[in-house]
Amino acid sequence: MTANPAQAPDPDVHASDGGMTPVEVHQAQILGTIRALPPAELALEEAEGCVLAEDIAAAVSLPSFDNSSMDGYAVLASDTVKASDDSPVFLPVTGEIAAGDTGAFTVTAGSAIRIMTGARMPSGADAVIPVELTDGGSTQVGIRQPMASGNAVRYTGGDARQGEVLLVTGTRLKPMHIAVAASAGRRKVLVRPRPRVVVLSTGNELAEPGTPLVPGRIWDSNSYMIAAAAREAGAIAHRHPIVPDESASVLATLEEQLQAADLLITTGGVSMGGEHDVVKAALSRLGTVTFRKVAMQPGMPQGFGRVGKNQTPIFTLPGNPVSAYISFQLFVRPALGALQEDPTFSLVTVRATLTGPVRSPAGRRSYLRATLSEDKSQVAPLRGQGSHQIAALGKASALVVVPERMTSLDAGAEVDVLVLP
Ligand code: AMP
Ligand code: MG
Repeated sequence: MTANPAQAPDPDVHASDGGMTPVEVHQAQILGTIRALPPAELALEEAEGCVLAEDIAAAVSLPSFDNSSMDGYAVLASDTVKASDDSPVFLPVTGEIAAGDTGAFTVTAGSAIRIMTGARMPSGADAVIPVELTDGGSTQVGIRQPMASGNAVRYTGGDARQGEVLLVTGTRLKPMHIAVAASAGRRKVLVRPRPRVVVLSTGNELAEPGTPLVPGRIWDSNSYMIAAAAREAGAIAHRHPIVPDESASVLATLEEQLQAADLLITTGGVSMGGEHDVVKAALSRLGTVTFRKVAMQPGMPQGFGRVGKNQTPIFTLPGNPVSAYISFQLFVRPALGALQEDPTFSLVTVRATLTGPVRSPAGRRSYLRATLSEDKSQVAPLRGQGSHQIAALGKASALVVVPERMTSLDAGAEVDVLVLP
């Protein structure tokens, strides 16, 4: 990464909004620069959870041969017309067909063949008598009930016709889709690969969880949280060990991690602390990352841009854990969706009634941690709305959105609520 001292001025900062960029503008500009990853062929067992990049058609009809849906006897239905409990029809059993048998069998009028579920129907037969409606005989079978033609027969193409499209481009592959692809004869499928994400936390105060703490230090939670959130959003994510507050370390670590990343995320070091905010200081010199204040709380200081020869997207999230989490959900999650060609990746919004009052700074949109009722009609703001209050975040299932122009809302107000994934 070569330095370019001339950081481009931010065209979306207007003195009239206190020098802040609206949330939607920041979101739209990020999405405007993200292109989906090139598709790749993945084996079925690796493709689960990925977005399909081709239509998948049935290689053969499903089923590809007429077969029995029950264990029983293949017969001509016309032979069973007179069958009853009092006077069963008796037919000689001339053979047995198990699932997987490929030989040619024939049933002639006045006879039966024992048949298992999934076994190919013998020619001549047009119905299967379930074993429980017979005496179960092996050389001769007694049938106690008449059976219609087609009973317990699964016909060729009854599920899908050869060439029929069974899965369309853009489907995120769930287990049943994997079964459909396998049944369509596919060993590999063309999908958008999972984005490779590297997360690094910066801060001299950070210690690895599990190691002893001394006063003045805190355990790093951001890198674990953001890597987990990225995985939840379809990525292969790994966290890098804590990076100290030194420009050279930040740049060297990013440089090294670029090799194996489709997207980079840092946390910390982007607020107003000048040289202490080393992520901002180091990346500003590159000229390819824009740092700005977004009109939101928490999460005001945001950075987004491109680094390295592949122009890898980078998000520099603020260090407070709640700010980092909300910034991820608002900005990074849709970008990960776009890398996977999945436009459905923004958080779901519902309307609900506030059960308690809330406050919000003028000119900034607040995202307040809250719990949403089961039926999604009531939303209860949590105590502890500080951007460092991870314990309250741990109780949240939703975010109450308080618009920029509002400074308070009373219980009973109708609000937009973002449902957390
Ligand atoms: P910064 O954005 O670096 O100024 O950090 C803002 C606040 O977030 C400070 O109180 C930091 O100690 C805290 N913080 C920064 N990084 C992390 C992290 N990885 N885990 C937990 N807290 C953090
Ligand atoms: Mg810091």
